[in-house]
Amino acid sequence: MPRQPRVVVFALAALCMVVVAVSAGGQNQADRFAGVELTIVPVAGQVYMISRPGGGGNVGVFAGPDGVLLVDSLFEPLAGRLVDAVRRVSDGDIRFLINTHVHPDHIGGNEPLARRDILIFAHDNLRVRALERLRTPRRGGRFSPQPAAGARPVVTFDSAVSFHFNGEDVRAFLAPAAHTDGDAFVHFPDSDVLHLGDVFRTTSYPIVDVYNGGTVAGTIEALEQAVAMAGPGTRVIPGHGLEVVGRDALVEFLDMTVDIRDRVQALIAEGRNLEEVMAAAPTAAYDARWGQEATWTANDFVPIVYHELGGGSLFVQ
Ligand SMILES: [Zn+2]
Repeated sequence: MPRQPRVVVFALAALCMVVVAVSAGGQNQADRFAGVELTIVPVAGQVYMISRPGGGGNVGVFAGPDGVLLVDSLFEPLAGRLVDAVRRVSDGDIRFLINTHVHPDHIGGNEPLARRDILIFAHDNLRVRALERLRTPRRGGRFSPQPAAGARPVVTFDSAVSFHFNGEDVRAFLAPAAHTDGDAFVHFPDSDVLHLGDVFRTTSYPIVDVYNGGTVAGTIEALEQAVAMAGPGTRVIPGHGLEVVGRDALVEFLDMTVDIRDRVQALIAEGRNLEEVMAAAPTAAYDARWGQEATWTANDFVPIVYHELGGGSLFVQ
């Protein structure tokens, strides 16, 4: 008899905790984007860039008399704000969306944008990877849910697709397997703009997503292609980073990547294991500039380089 009220109290307490936990979960998702304001800046010609200060893939906006083409779709809860940002520069129909790769901060807005009759294009491999739950590279490889069926690209291509509107020719094409194995570069030759997705970022070392087919060799090859395509006046939209940059920034990023690759290769040739390679700090000259993003430092990047180059055992023999 004296114990019964306690059981009820415990049961109520447990129920309250569940209720609190459930509402906190919903709250977190909303809080994460509450108050987020997107920026839109002119890039060159008919191309603009929408960014989310605080994190999220940069969106390319190609706006002219025939309507609007988007490159990437940010996070799902920001889709309405993405459209509002487009409206600041164009009241034309948003007709097409190209995804540069499968990560949630680049395809998250696909489903709500598809409901607005926007036709989604991507490389074949992106669609295949979007059929399953995703594994993304940060923090040692976290799983995120399978994208919704409505988020899948409707049109896929195996090497390239071209758009002919707004008086220009826009070309999206498969880059070498770099960030993922479905990376599309989007080239606006008339406006003289390149959107390189996350193959090129101004905020950290290259992110090579080994769970989705990314490679260091492909990153270098893709960056070499981008450098070769860029002229002195070309504006480059990075996958992440709030600044639109030029060819020089691409060259700097490529040179940094090649130098680290070569340094790790030399250490492997000396028979160093991963622990010794890390201790040798092959990125020391670059950490202040490229190694400051908490979830993607030299400790994330160098082991990927080491393993791809055929580095030996983790342990001292
Ligand atoms: Zn990405």
